[in-house]
Amino acid sequence: MRVAVPKEIKNHEYRVALTPTGARELAARGHDVSVQASAGEGAGFSDADYEAAGARIEADVEALWQGAELVLKVKEPQPGEVARLTPQHTLFTYLHLAAEETLTRGLMKSGATCIAYETLTDARGGLPLLAPMSTVAGRMAVQAGAHSLEKAQGGAGVLLPGVPGVAPANVTVIGGGVVGENAARMALGLGADVTILDKSLERLEVLDDRYQGRIKTVYSTADALDSAARESDMVIGAVLIPGAAAPKLITREMLGHMKPGSVLVDVAIDQGGCFETSKPTTHAEPTYIVDGIVHYCVANMPGAVARTSTQGLTNATLPFVLALADKGWKQALSDDAHFLPGLNVHAGQVTYQAVADAFGLDS
Ligand code: NAD
Repeated sequence: MRVAVPKEIKNHEYRVALTPTGARELAARGHDVSVQASAGEGAGFSDADYEAAGARIEADVEALWQGAELVLKVKEPQPGEVARLTPQHTLFTYLHLAAEETLTRGLMKSGATCIAYETLTDARGGLPLLAPMSTVAGRMAVQAGAHSLEKAQGGAGVLLPGVPGVAPANVTVIGGGVVGENAARMALGLGADVTILDKSLERLEVLDDRYQGRIKTVYSTADALDSAARESDMVIGAVLIPGAAAPKLITREMLGHMKPGSVLVDVAIDQGGCFETSKPTTHAEPTYIVDGIVHYCVANMPGAVARTSTQGLTNATLPFVLALADKGWKQALSDDAHFLPGLNVHAGQVTYQAVADAFGLDS
């Protein structure tokens, strides 16, 4: 199959959809892999790396898309890319269509087959192609929060592990899913005193068993959130209610009860944020201060560590990419009940119920 990997063109997107390692796997199976010139640069992969892996480097973006059957991307196609899509293409990428009507209609019009990373499922009811980026964001949250606690960033001037004779900082993580567990693990590793709040008792049981009391687990109630606000040096927001905006769990009023210079890291900002005072920020200006509390609310955290994120993402996507290339989309999806929910748009029709419902379309 002719596989194309365009350079990502969304603002500040440095990831790439295929590493040279992935290109080698495809080439070894006889597929024709074309990578747009400098597509891997932001993630630290040179054109020469791809060529050594058996891919062709294509400088002409028009020719790249025209020659392709399977197009691999990271972010949703931008308007210029939508215009290049035709019925000959199978597109495999993050789409997040439910909030993007113009994009959805553009993809329908293109006639292309569009498969979204984020709607694939796994046998445990998880979202295997979202999890790697949640892992990155969770691990980064503590790094970002620890930096924000420094005096120069407006923080209280607290070192997470303390020192001998000085107690460690209190870190509370709200939401003990993929982001939350990874954040908690990092905070624990740095020597902080860590508590996870979750609404799911089942999840708290898993965490309690896994960390054997080294991480405290607390059922998430208004009381527990109040105490967390009063006692924590850092609160990490990592909740998710699938398909809904994040609930506002720390209100502006509660900021007044927090220790001055403590830090809120709102990882759930991409779902609207779980603190009332959160608003999206960028890596260029990641923090702002409200009522003496430092807020870190970067909506695209994995973008800052593009190399690790690319490797983590492509490890997860590669088995599906190989199935698409080897069998074609129809066979690959009908062979795998967890791959099938990835299909969002085909031949002008939305094929994913939640997206169709969002815009009152037939599916
Ligand atoms: P997840 O489904 O694995 O975990 C979410 C957890 O929140 C679940 O355990 C759930 O029980 C819990 N929860 C729901 N309501 C709660 C409440 N009121 N109190 C306490 N816990 C509650 O989701 P995830 O993959 O960990 O993602 C968490 C959030 O991080 C999502 O909004 C996701 O979109 C976001 N995210 C952001 C970035 C970024 O760059 N900012 C990157 C990746 C993920």
